[in-house]
Amino acid sequence: MADYLICGGTSYVPEDGNTGAQMFASGEGLTYQDFIILPGFIDFTADEVDLTSALTKKISLKAPLVSSPMDTVTESEMAIAMALCGGIGIIHHNCNPDIQAQEVMKVKKYKHGFIRDPVCLTPDHRVSDVFEVKKRHGFGGIPITEDGKMGSRLMGIVTSRDIDFLEPNSDKLLSEIMTPFDDLVTAPAGVSLDKANEILQRSKKGKLPIINEHFELVALIARTDLKKSRNFPNASYDANNQLLVGAAIGTRETDKVRLQMLVHAGVDVVVLDSSQGNSIYQINLIRYIKSTYPELQIIGGNVVTAAQAKNLIDAGVDGLRVGMGAGSICITQEVMAVGRPQATAVYKVAEYARRFGVPVMADGGISSVGHIIKALSLGASTVMMGSMLAGTSEAPGEYFFSNGVRLKKYRGMGSLEAMECKGNSGGAADRYFHGEGDTIKVAQGVSGSIVDKGSILRFLPYLVSGIQHGCQDIGSKSCSMLSEWKQENLELVS
Ligand code: IMP
Repeated sequence: MADYLICGGTSYVPEDGNTGAQMFASGEGLTYQDFIILPGFIDFTADEVDLTSALTKKISLKAPLVSSPMDTVTESEMAIAMALCGGIGIIHHNCNPDIQAQEVMKVKKYKHGFIRDPVCLTPDHRVSDVFEVKKRHGFGGIPITEDGKMGSRLMGIVTSRDIDFLEPNSDKLLSEIMTPFDDLVTAPAGVSLDKANEILQRSKKGKLPIINEHFELVALIARTDLKKSRNFPNASYDANNQLLVGAAIGTRETDKVRLQMLVHAGVDVVVLDSSQGNSIYQINLIRYIKSTYPELQIIGGNVVTAAQAKNLIDAGVDGLRVGMGAGSICITQEVMAVGRPQATAVYKVAEYARRFGVPVMADGGISSVGHIIKALSLGASTVMMGSMLAGTSEAPGEYFFSNGVRLKKYRGMGSLEAMECKGNSGGAADRYFHGEGDTIKVAQGVSGSIVDKGSILRFLPYLVSGIQHGCQDIGSKSCSMLSEWKQENLELVS
């Protein structure tokens, strides 16, 4: 602990803030609202602040931001956007294992600018079907394939211009109005984005179908996407230049099969999804994963005490997820009487885990940029968010209106609604119940909705810039400096 700190670079003044150790010594639990960080000295611009941070022992991110494995937050679309912006998404497991593995594969196969799952129709569909697609998805350029799916033979394309003068309920066949295959400009599979861009510009068309040697549709490029496409210099890539992605699993025997499918799909990190991670089930699974898939990174949790963290670190985790009862949709502390205020939980676990080089992810209770900065200043190297990211266009689910406000559903994975989600063998319930024989489900979460926040591709850069400005005020030029700052400059807010 420093007795003095240098201020303004010129004179020595007595320290007047608290160290983390002092602030958390009393034994009282603190939340993010209970303290503030004192400002430091600025001798750099905000965009010079380096937010590179460790997710696990082997994976680091350019932005310390992680989307939560919740079924109203992270599927492939969210995970792609998170990774493009420098963070990572963790695909939820409230679905059958094959569906989760497919979502992982979509992220790993993603190539910027290429639409891999466009809506397709068959030549036997009607004009009214095109109007329906337009109404639902907002676009009218539709590839026509033999069986109406991706991967089947391309027969033609229907664009808005083909239906402009037709009635929305017209039952004319698409085969009569589509531009047939022979008149289409296409590009071969494997074409680079630059080359495809060039072909699209030369052809003056709105859409460029990409086909393989059997004339089957493998992707589509849209002129409108190209116009708005930007570079993502901070994107999170693996060694093969594919986007990074994580997936959540439970700790039951059946999860080993799920895990195998996820590994085959190319998952980079698995999150062991338990609300109370300090269990024999989790320890056994960590040992199993380390011996079966030694390259796979594992984030264990959730934990809120050093004693819980110790068991998972000893078992071999590569990262820890911290938080119990902090989530915005969470009622765990009320129902189970167990948990810990989040600032204390993050500080105590990070303080212990850093001795073993195990990074900590602060999970839950993040509702502003300031909370992210506080979590990082307490020693977390990443933050996991649910409500902050729900309501964006990349979050699963459709928007709906209530009292004139555009909303998306957001629900706790321990809400009855999520746990009883029909038609899957997924894991919302597994997160909250440890025994195989639990029959009565006690809800630990609630359902709600979040106002439309637009696209993650705009929202995340805002968060990143906000964190950089916070770091600048504090005088920290990087995330790692920020967590060292906790040694000296915290103050309680009454
Ligand atoms: P938020 O960012 O404050 O909305 O919190 C998201 C976090 O809450 C998730 O990452 C989970 O750790 C946690 N969580 C998700 N569902 C539930 C639930 O039903 N009960 C308690 N905690 C939950």
